[in-house]
Amino acid sequence: MYSLPDLEPLKDFNAIAVLTSGGDSPGMNPAVRGVVRAALNQNIRVYGVQKGYSGLVAGELRVMTSASVRNIVQRGGTILKSDRCPEFKDPAVRRQAIDVLQREGIDALVVIGGDGSLTGAHCLAEESDIAAIGLPGTIDNDIFGTEDTIGFDTAVNTALDAIDKIRDTASSHERHFLVEVMGRNSGFLATHVGIAAGAEMVVVPEYEVQIEQLGQQLSDSRRSGKGSSGIIVVAEGRDPGLTYRLAQQLTQHGEEPRVCILGHIQRGGRPSGHDRVLASSLGAMAISYLLAGYSDIMVGVANGAIVDVPLDSVIRYRKGLDPKLFELALLLHK
Ligand code: ADP
Repeated sequence: MYSLPDLEPLKDFNAIAVLTSGGDSPGMNPAVRGVVRAALNQNIRVYGVQKGYSGLVAGELRVMTSASVRNIVQRGGTILKSDRCPEFKDPAVRRQAIDVLQREGIDALVVIGGDGSLTGAHCLAEESDIAAIGLPGTIDNDIFGTEDTIGFDTAVNTALDAIDKIRDTASSHERHFLVEVMGRNSGFLATHVGIAAGAEMVVVPEYEVQIEQLGQQLSDSRRSGKGSSGIIVVAEGRDPGLTYRLAQQLTQHGEEPRVCILGHIQRGGRPSGHDRVLASSLGAMAISYLLAGYSDIMVGVANGAIVDVPLDSVIRYRKGLDPKLFELALLLHK
């Protein structure tokens, strides 16, 4: 797994709070457990905020003990609940959240979520004296500055479980299946799933789909006896209904593909061993970084190690899909 940095404790904290926000991802629970247990170990009081930023603004905080996070390391979802809180983009609403934290004597906040949630954490760090640390929690693995995110590995494996089953039906009926996975803006999940499932094709938002070429490829392989069935992994993209439209277009090439939308099952389920270790490490390291005096950072992964990345750059830059990985996904089915 990833190596952990040595950090010297320089600061004291009275109390910290932890919240999960945005789309949930498997592994948020072990991350919360890591934060809570590491803080308690340093005799820091810990509050769990219910329902992300909405709960923070409403003051929905509860004191966390070691027992509060017992028996959750293996559970999907988040015991703290998650929510979207569009009002949090308003500085006046964020001021209410800061007031809540200050009223409770909380001097640091750990936010577990995707890039929207990390943007909220950055705003709080800029607008108050409260130290804020973000942890990348998303199945999309699309966060700049980190090679891995909490939930990605589990989501890849969940999609693979489903695709391995779909392949049996695809083969029995000699059909192609278009399997839609999550990924509105990025094809990380689709590309990894495509490679691991041995998919015949992968469609991602980063590259325009060549439908003529795809149709031709499928009918060629059917004619040549190379393959009359197979899996095409499609990232959902920004365009609702994309996968159904692709299936429709493929019928013009003599195919009768079926569509399977994996949907929210990809977000749920028991976190994989990899995600449990990643989430536990990031959660515990969030406390080490706070004690070492860091704030306004995300704790992520680079070159096999846990690292800190300024939140400012996390939210400013986009992480690009490695073109070589995408090429590999296309190459291996040939
Ligand atoms: P994710 O964290 O999974 O990317 P969202 O983009 O929905 O999910 O963001 C989750 C929450 O983070 C939002 O509901 C909002 O409360 C907060 N958030 C998102 N964008 C901003 C922003 N620009 N400024 C402040 N808070 C934000």
